[in-house]
Amino acid sequence: MKEADDSSDSNELEKYLSMGIPLEEAKRAISSKSEEMTRLSNIGPERAGEVVNLECKILTINEREVNLGDEPKKAYYGFLVDDTGSLPYTSWRDIPYEKGNSVVIKKGLVREWKGKAEIVINRQSVLLKSDREFGSLQKKKERKKIADVRDIGWVTVTGKILSAERREKNDKKFIRGVIGDETGRMPFTSWVDFGFKEGDTVEMSGMVRSWLGLLSLSIGEESEVKESQEGVEAKRLKLSIGELEDRGGGFEVEVNGELLEIQKGSGLIVRCPICRRAVKGNNCTIHGEVDGVWDLRIKGVLDDGTGNLSMIIGRGLCEELLGKTLEEFKDDAKNAMDPAIVSREMEEKLLLRRYEVIGDTRSDEFGLRMMVKIIKPAEDKDPKKIAGGLLEGIR
Ligand SMILES: [Zn+2]
Repeated sequence: MKEADDSSDSNELEKYLSMGIPLEEAKRAISSKSEEMTRLSNIGPERAGEVVNLECKILTINEREVNLGDEPKKAYYGFLVDDTGSLPYTSWRDIPYEKGNSVVIKKGLVREWKGKAEIVINRQSVLLKSDREFGSLQKKKERKKIADVRDIGWVTVTGKILSAERREKNDKKFIRGVIGDETGRMPFTSWVDFGFKEGDTVEMSGMVRSWLGLLSLSIGEESEVKESQEGVEAKRLKLSIGELEDRGGGFEVEVNGELLEIQKGSGLIVRCPICRRAVKGNNCTIHGEVDGVWDLRIKGVLDDGTGNLSMIIGRGLCEELLGKTLEEFKDDAKNAMDPAIVSREMEEKLLLRRYEVIGDTRSDEFGLRMMVKIIKPAEDKDPKKIAGGLLEGIR
């Protein structure tokens, strides 16, 4: 009778036997091999669908509710690290451990998500506690351009310090800033004062972390920061919305598209003075009756043909775009006895026009969401449209 080996194991067995290894020994080699731990750095998107065993540390555990069918289900997600690298994970079962614990994951599933590998812990997977100590990630001096920093892990970048603000919180001093090279920008937090200042060009190594959904460089005791003689011209990452979707968002990125929609919740709004949520009738769902504060915003959809993103444009930028202040809009609304007059004016003046937009973009199950930092009308470089416009002028 033929053994119920799966085909890859029986191929493996044939290979061993052809090498002259006795059957029992070959079998043992294969079974221990299937128990072999895979290193995180060996897992790429091309291994999607494979089942792996891992020994690693749980770096972070986040929780979210997902609606599958009628009942909400809890999912856990975060990052796993070992000595070789890190990978994101999603777990569909409870994790009876804490962040920082080392574990053995048996039968974790590799899946591809946005061109990158992820580990899925599902019902078939087994989670065991491990005593193995994982230090911080091996500090390979991996040099990267900022646009190529796509995952957490240890990295070295060379760039210009675009801002460096000294702050203090709970008696802890730190520097929050932005570093940029010719491919893009990224925020950093330095817990050690290496003496650099705005305008310096430096080579800095640190740990890439995910901070509020965006990648950020954390500079600590183990980091190295030194002056660099490289001539660095700091530029923003400029890309299509489709490319931005593939990247899963980015810090201070630039896109160019058409304002396709101004959504509900745009125009004149009232906010809770404590939590800044938009409120109706001076009633905050969290803080009850409050003295609401007037504000102005646009929730818009920008589209460039390759994809779209929802963006939030705050008061200052709205005032600039529309050439009117919040006070003037409030007067308009009072005179018309209709606050909706403001969002209608936004639609008349801004809708279906092209804009160059710069902002921090995060990605979630609803798509891309940008907090706009800079917005300006795009120069129309499409010759057909310009020619069409000219013809219209002649007619
Ligand atoms: Zn509130």
